[in-house]
Amino acid sequence: MSQGELLQFVNCRLVRNHKLIQEDLWVRNGKIINPEPVFFDEKQRAHQQIDCGNSIIAPGYIELQINGGYGVDFSYDVDTVAEGIEKVAKELITNGVTSFCPTIVTSPPETYRKIIPQVTGTTTGAQVLGLHLEGPFISPQKKGAHPENCIKDIDNGIDTLVEAYSNLGNAKIITLAPEKDPTGAVTKALTNMGITVALGHSIANLSQGELAVQNGARLITHLFNAMLPFHHRDPGLVGLLASNNIPPAQEIFFGIIADGIHTHPAALRIAHRTHPDGLILVTDAIAALGLGEGKHPLGQLEMEVRDGKAFIAGTNTLCGSIAPLDTCVRIFKKATDCSTVYALECATLHPASCLKMAETKGTLNFGADADFVILTDDLFVKSTWINGKCVYRCKPEELEALTARPIEQLCECT
Ligand code: ZN
Repeated sequence: MSQGELLQFVNCRLVRNHKLIQEDLWVRNGKIINPEPVFFDEKQRAHQQIDCGNSIIAPGYIELQINGGYGVDFSYDVDTVAEGIEKVAKELITNGVTSFCPTIVTSPPETYRKIIPQVTGTTTGAQVLGLHLEGPFISPQKKGAHPENCIKDIDNGIDTLVEAYSNLGNAKIITLAPEKDPTGAVTKALTNMGITVALGHSIANLSQGELAVQNGARLITHLFNAMLPFHHRDPGLVGLLASNNIPPAQEIFFGIIADGIHTHPAALRIAHRTHPDGLILVTDAIAALGLGEGKHPLGQLEMEVRDGKAFIAGTNTLCGSIAPLDTCVRIFKKATDCSTVYALECATLHPASCLKMAETKGTLNFGADADFVILTDDLFVKSTWINGKCVYRCKPEELEALTARPIEQLCECT
């Protein structure tokens, strides 16, 4: 196993230990390796040197919440979900995403029964970490775009979930409203199964949120959206960012949509300043992601993309986010004036830590999977690598066009 091809990336700056450092990146057998024993013990030289032109190398982006894209809707294209995931996986690498959790909104039982077994981790693009099941155990008062008739209560503990989903094997994240699990027993059972419990689409108060966190919940779903607004006497789930009733060893993360539209830049700054280590950038993108300007018939709805925003066709009603994750990283950096490294960590280290995968994903540490992106100083994706192999390279003329008129210039993000 130690005799695989040895790649040396030179003339680059690496995101490592919360810093940008001038160092080479060494890759073998799909892993990032420590070059020292290779020099001294094996006396091995690189088989290939790759000059990065002083670019930044960051871990590949990890997307925890995406409903679809490129014309595919994971929740509605039920019979072809495996092909749909493959298609999106192949496109996401153009945004620097190397792994993701396809997200299924509140659905009828037959949808879960059909979709969940079709999901496998292997694609020819970004890797699937498992599903994010958003619903059906959510509050009808904060349902957002979820179909109300499919929302359920938890009346028989964890068995209710096993029955609803029919199979928990491919679930990585489950978003539920904590008020539907008043004792926290379901949250605890899911956590013990290795499933990340996320809190959202909820009218919970702060103490209900704290009880869920004490029972293992470690993520808040799209902070500020589909939850009670912050109130100074009961700050609701937003208050978890500054709670002192969370066990010291317990971390709490929150997804946030930084598309320049769904979360105001001032709200991004509040979240960032209150709890920087928990911030995770998510797109929550819909099927119109990546389709370009114009009208697109999607499901029962006709959508229209105008100036980088998705509307219900012929109206000014926004119908979901379509900013790719690399765009969200750039918008977030601009809105908060944070460092380059921190903005990158919000799409890499933080989601990996939330899923307890930071040993293998979300860092460029020795032993981690060689999933990474090569970026310009302005954080445009030049190339994407998975398991040490280049899976996407942006053509120079495309890169020039992207940087000349980035989508974030069109957003209300400053
Ligand atoms: Zn949602």
